[in-house]
Amino acid sequence: MEVRPLSELYTNIKPGYYGEFGGAHVPPALNKNLSRLEEAFFKFKDDKEFQDEFIHYLKKYVGRPSPLYFAANLSKEVGSKLYLKREDLNHTGAHKINNTIGQVLLAKRMGATEIIAETGAGQHGVAAATAAALFGIKCKIFMGAVDIERQAANVSRMKLLNADVIPATSGTKTLADAVNEALGYFIKNPDSFYMLGSQVGPHPYPNLVGYFQSVIGQEARNQIFEAEGRLPDSIFACVGGGSNAIGLFQGFLADENVKIYGAEGGGEGEIPKTAATLSMGKIGVFQGTYSYCLMDEDGNPTTSYSIAAGLDYPGISPQHAYLKDTKRVSYQSILDQDAINAYVTLSRKEGIIPAIESAHAVAMAMKVMKDKNGLAIINLSGRGDKDVERRLENFIYNKFI
Ligand SMILES: *Cc1c(COP(=O)(O)O)cnc(C)c1O
Repeated sequence: MEVRPLSELYTNIKPGYYGEFGGAHVPPALNKNLSRLEEAFFKFKDDKEFQDEFIHYLKKYVGRPSPLYFAANLSKEVGSKLYLKREDLNHTGAHKINNTIGQVLLAKRMGATEIIAETGAGQHGVAAATAAALFGIKCKIFMGAVDIERQAANVSRMKLLNADVIPATSGTKTLADAVNEALGYFIKNPDSFYMLGSQVGPHPYPNLVGYFQSVIGQEARNQIFEAEGRLPDSIFACVGGGSNAIGLFQGFLADENVKIYGAEGGGEGEIPKTAATLSMGKIGVFQGTYSYCLMDEDGNPTTSYSIAAGLDYPGISPQHAYLKDTKRVSYQSILDQDAINAYVTLSRKEGIIPAIESAHAVAMAMKVMKDKNGLAIINLSGRGDKDVERRLENFIYNKFI
């Protein structure tokens, strides 16, 4: 099978827009920084030397290609052939490193003196600090003061990697406040490089993050051909901001017969106890992009909730908004308890403890593929050690088993 160049996967005609969604809805003070970033991204993304360096680090440092593993036991239980795309086996344990390696290479070429990033649960903070350490660039991670308390292990990792962890003390002292404070710093320090962790925010970030993650879908497409000699019937991924999902989906968007499914964090099922932005949100501008967003009755963005910290975000990638409205992808919300069920099932059937985020995709596949005798790929976006650490088992044993 031919490997398609990364650059051919982009179908948005007007840069930064996916249908009516996307754009850069930011205060004028940010325009200059974003234009510089856009210019650098379009200059380097097809540059042979840049691509060679990116591929080198993906192979030798991240450990790519990640295996496409046939989950025989789970398949038997479900009644369809299920393959797992093992992003959990990447260095640092999730897909996020694909993006931070891509962005740090861009930062280096732009002459950035410092990497800044925001983080909620700390997963992106660790991936950003890892990439900064690798290239010897200073790193500041903005994190809500409340999250710093809740995510002590990841804070220790970031500090060990030599990042400064800056507490955000405004608002609810969580992710959205960390984003605001990081943006404030970015405006004042134009030589810093803002490393965004998901497919969200203003243009060019959704484009750039989608590009660096597209390696997932390219590999998976080749690997399923190698294993089965054909395309899958369906593919599944969990959707927080949307980066691991778009990474997988891009390999198959043009294959009309492949059904594509996105699993949102359903939480407990209702606003504000949900993170199902596409299923329950409304259209508006949130953190720089025109997309779906969870809102209250007055149209103000609300907080979100999911048992999976990585899915707990009230906004969503504009490309996923477009894929929803054009009906190319079917998005459904998966409740906490169904995700926990899948987390336990995969651990026990395959000896693979998935991130609780990824377990949402497993849960959706178990439902959709039940007794279909079909062929599917599930993106296993990350490993679940972090969830074991926070004693999810109490919740499991007390309530569900
Ligand atoms: C951060 C994270 C997610 C959610 O982010 P996306 O940008 O939607 O991919 C999913 N899975 C894992 C393991 C994560 O760390």
